[in-house]
Amino acid sequence: MDIIAGKAVDGTKPRREWIYAKKPGGRLFNYRQLLGYTLLLVLIGAPFVKIAGEPFLMFNIVERKFVLFGNVFWPQDLHIFVFGMLIAMVCIVLFTVVYGRVWCGWACPQTIFMELVFRRIEYWIEGDWQQQKKLDHAPKTWARQSKKIAKHAVFLVVSFLIANTFLAYIIGVDELWKIMRDPVSQHLAGFVSLMVFTLVFYGVFAYVREIVCTTICPYGRLQGVLLDDQSITVAYDHRRGEPRGHRKKHAQQAVGDCVDCRLCVHVCPTGIDIRNGLQMECVSCTACIDACDAVMEKLDRPTKLIGFYSTAEIGGERKKKGNTRAVAYTVVLAVLMAVFGWLVFSRSQVDGTLLRAKGSTYQIRPDGTVSNLYSVALINKTHQDMPFRLVAAEENFTVHVVNKIDELKGGGTAQLSFFLISPQRAIQSYKTNVKVNVVVAGKVVETMKTTFVAPPGG
Ligand code: SF4
Ligand code: SF4
Repeated sequence: MDIIAGKAVDGTKPRREWIYAKKPGGRLFNYRQLLGYTLLLVLIGAPFVKIAGEPFLMFNIVERKFVLFGNVFWPQDLHIFVFGMLIAMVCIVLFTVVYGRVWCGWACPQTIFMELVFRRIEYWIEGDWQQQKKLDHAPKTWARQSKKIAKHAVFLVVSFLIANTFLAYIIGVDELWKIMRDPVSQHLAGFVSLMVFTLVFYGVFAYVREIVCTTICPYGRLQGVLLDDQSITVAYDHRRGEPRGHRKKHAQQAVGDCVDCRLCVHVCPTGIDIRNGLQMECVSCTACIDACDAVMEKLDRPTKLIGFYSTAEIGGERKKKGNTRAVAYTVVLAVLMAVFGWLVFSRSQVDGTLLRAKGSTYQIRPDGTVSNLYSVALINKTHQDMPFRLVAAEENFTVHVVNKIDELKGGGTAQLSFFLISPQRAIQSYKTNVKVNVVVAGKVVETMKTTFVAPPGG
């Protein structure tokens, strides 16, 4: 492998191979930058966006409060979360089977931060890969050390900003703002978390780097079992490229198109040679495609010596027209995500549990009506206060609340007792199914079912 290997300080015992990736460039890299910086903006901006007073996204694991697209989730919504997790897992599997590891190279926050933020800072301060390598092996002069200090200082500042964003997803921007504004002693836990996250992010992006993708991330480890010979991956067309070797422009030599310039290896951020075949370390970043295409263009050869190919294609199978499997999987993915979206957005804002009062049956009243006593527990799943009414859905029934409460506090619960009352002459059978609605601003937000018992009238 031609990736430059870092050595131990004593120069004898080889340790981890430090990867000096050449600055990437090209058509795909431009697309990747466009997508990456857009996603970065979304990632950083999302905690600041509020929908009807709720954060756009919040995952408060400590207090078990979750907000998705402005919808607050409570422990009662666990089934949606479980379903969401299952859908996410199925989506990951289907997506990977069809498109390989495109997520890793193009959309994963680890890659976006590493390649489009931290590595850019490194190129800016230390220069391209060869200058970086030279600098690392140069004597520790003031000029060298000042570059190193500057780089790590900027890394720390950026890590601190990422830690703030990360914390904003957990506790929300309002709480984060309090940590910033108030004395440290008032938010000691929050302040310590912020410092720990900063150090973790700094450690990941300054030192651990590609090891996250090649060794630590479980999704990366899953590739081996998820990919098959029809999966689309970044691959080298060895039938066209081999035998590799130097060739002159327009020369008629009996060699393949690969001129063994090794540019595809130099740009690889995980330090592999894609010409050795599909490897678990490949995150499909496509930097090698751009590098090789530039070489092919210079040599007046067709591009895509390295490109998106399935193993079957590389092996000589003709590319199937209109990949039905990819289309079918994509449709399944879209349907699953639509179902999840429907579950999230059709979820009621109020949750109610209705029970008949313990040990009670019915009461016949002097005015010819009959009543049953119930108790109801209501939960307001939003953070807004909600004026509400309980209304019987069936005609002939009315609701009389014993301990009247007009408003459900945001995120609060209420315990009510009420009578369902009906004229006895309207009762047809001993047991009648009845629905009780929770009405907010003229809209039914929750319907609870129960039975009403009374001797038939008339
Ligand atoms: S960049 Fe292309 S031509 Fe150069 S070594 Fe890699 S595959 Fe061969
Ligand atoms: S082999 Fe190519 S696509 Fe894979 S990680 Fe390296 S540069 Fe990126």
